[in-house]
Amino acid sequence: MRSSKVDDHVYLIDVETAGIKHFIASYVLVGERVAIVETGPTSSVPNLLSGLRELGVETEEVAYVAVSHIHLDHAGGVGTLLHHLPNAQVVVHPKGAPHLAHPEKLWEQSKTVLGSITDLYGAPEAVPEERIIASADGMTLDIGNGVRLKVVETTGHASHHQSYYEPSCEGVFPGDAAGIYLNDIDVIVPTTPAPFRMDIALASLDKLRVLKPKSLFYSHFGKSSDALEKLYAYVRQLKLWARVAKQELDRNESLETISERIVESDVSIQRVLDYVRVHPVLGETVLRNSVQGVVDFVAKFGAVPE
Ligand SMILES: [Zn+2]
Repeated sequence: MRSSKVDDHVYLIDVETAGIKHFIASYVLVGERVAIVETGPTSSVPNLLSGLRELGVETEEVAYVAVSHIHLDHAGGVGTLLHHLPNAQVVVHPKGAPHLAHPEKLWEQSKTVLGSITDLYGAPEAVPEERIIASADGMTLDIGNGVRLKVVETTGHASHHQSYYEPSCEGVFPGDAAGIYLNDIDVIVPTTPAPFRMDIALASLDKLRVLKPKSLFYSHFGKSSDALEKLYAYVRQLKLWARVAKQELDRNESLETISERIVESDVSIQRVLDYVRVHPVLGETVLRNSVQGVVDFVAKFGAVPE
């Protein structure tokens, strides 16, 4: 079983990209119609489809495929998936929409940033423009039977990032706006690759906190029922990283030293080192890229958010 019920009307499919379990989640919301939140990359679309079959979802029932942002691990598979979903439209931030219709540049940039990891993800297929809904902040998708998805623009991780709020279960689908939650060991890891805007990311986290969600449905990975606590913890963690980065930049320390100091200062990160070291995707990139993003932000803007 790769699918499981995580709330009323909400199901999780572990898409097991490249055979990696508990890494990328796709969520299925079932009302009168069906919405999917996040697709994962191209390579694991067959797993997503088998998850839908397991749940008894007919492909014709899917009305929306909503993605948090266009990075390959979240939306890379959307073009391929649409071949199988005759009635579905894709919901995406307006800045991301052109890249779904013409994914060539996104693919080239992803190869530069992620290197061989893109081989695990596969190239994205184009989405026909007439099937793309460029969303607006606050827009609500009605799935029927009281199930709705409200778009909450949450830029910062990327300039084309949005989250979704489902009011009947009081749950938020934060994409990458609330970090990576390693639910196997109950630890959050920042996902703050350059060009990261911490000031904007913190404002986005405020928008999510105002909703007072009961649950977070992380794309990486799974449900957490202490949503507010997790959001506050992530805010504290980002500010800690920025403070350490500023202090070490003022001493002209290298990126490597800054990274070491961050790990020394952040007790929760010490707990993830062994976990990420052996992880085929996270191990190579996650800490290095996230530290780099925070350091670049502090170097460029000089200020550490209060
Ligand atoms: Zn991601």
